[in-house]
Amino acid sequence: MAKVAFLGLGVMGFPMAGHLKARGGHEVTVYNRTAAKADLWVAQHGGRAARAPREAAQGQDFVFLCVGNDDDLRQVTLGADGALGGMAKGAVMVDHTTASADVARELHVAAAALGVGFIDAPVSGGQAGAENGVLTVMCGGDAPVYAKAEPVIAAFARMCKLLGPAGSGQLAKMVNQICIAGLVQALSEGIHFGQKAGLDVEAVIEVISRGAAQSWQMENRYKTMNAGKFNFGFAVDWMRKDLSICLAEARRNGAHLPVTALVDQFYSDVQTMAGGRWDTSSLLARLK
Ligand code: NAP
Repeated sequence: MAKVAFLGLGVMGFPMAGHLKARGGHEVTVYNRTAAKADLWVAQHGGRAARAPREAAQGQDFVFLCVGNDDDLRQVTLGADGALGGMAKGAVMVDHTTASADVARELHVAAAALGVGFIDAPVSGGQAGAENGVLTVMCGGDAPVYAKAEPVIAAFARMCKLLGPAGSGQLAKMVNQICIAGLVQALSEGIHFGQKAGLDVEAVIEVISRGAAQSWQMENRYKTMNAGKFNFGFAVDWMRKDLSICLAEARRNGAHLPVTALVDQFYSDVQTMAGGRWDTSSLLARLK
């Protein structure tokens, strides 16, 4: 059992922090910018709510984070009221935000200067994965620090792996998002074509999902996509944030991502259709 703080109780962080308490048996302190969510978490799970990141981080063995983007991360970790300022030597910070590899390296250096360990640990598996405690966690950092963090992360993970030095977790998450982007467009085109062809799309997918076209997106999204419902998971606004991180990294490392770049523009169309909060399968909506 460890002393743990969790900062950022959004769609993902709220249930992840819950698993640290209920499954992991850890002593959990939470912080959320909008304090009402932290109070709600404490009402549901017990534990303690702190009113600032630094206060939450004081005296903890581990500080977990899951906020929005690079700027949010810097706000919550660095500066006068930031979590790093409250952390003791030997403590470990684990960041589950999907952010750039640059900010992961920057925080790794800032933490090391204080004798604090830092693991970048973005996740895949969505809201359902967080609620069911079966996330995939992609980690970057130092092996001895990771070895300390892995048993704690296990409270909400089905798969967790160290993939290299600081930033490697974020780079792996970029690979994940690049793989998803083109696939969701292809799935949208397949369903669109099936509808235009007058087929029973559900029956078609039930058959082809047992063959080579099978994917997580197909299995989990085809019914809602076919029904024109797009309120079932990861939002387009978040996906565009992630794709912009991928495309910026690709400009630096020379990778060619033509389909990813195109799909990013397709998501920009969806935003223009007021679909920023629709889930990523809404690429189908812009074909209609
Ligand atoms: P969310 O529901 O919007 O929650 C974001 C959390 O971050 C909230 O607790 C928010 O506080 C906090 N926050 C944002 N900016 C902050 C700031 N400047 N200072 C302090 N707190 C701040 O988002 P989410 O869906 O949980 O996603 C969180 C991260 O996980 C993102 O990086 C996302 O890309 C990634 N992710 C999400 C999913 C998914 O399916 N949702 C899947 C994989 C990865 P308030 O409550 O005050 O707004």
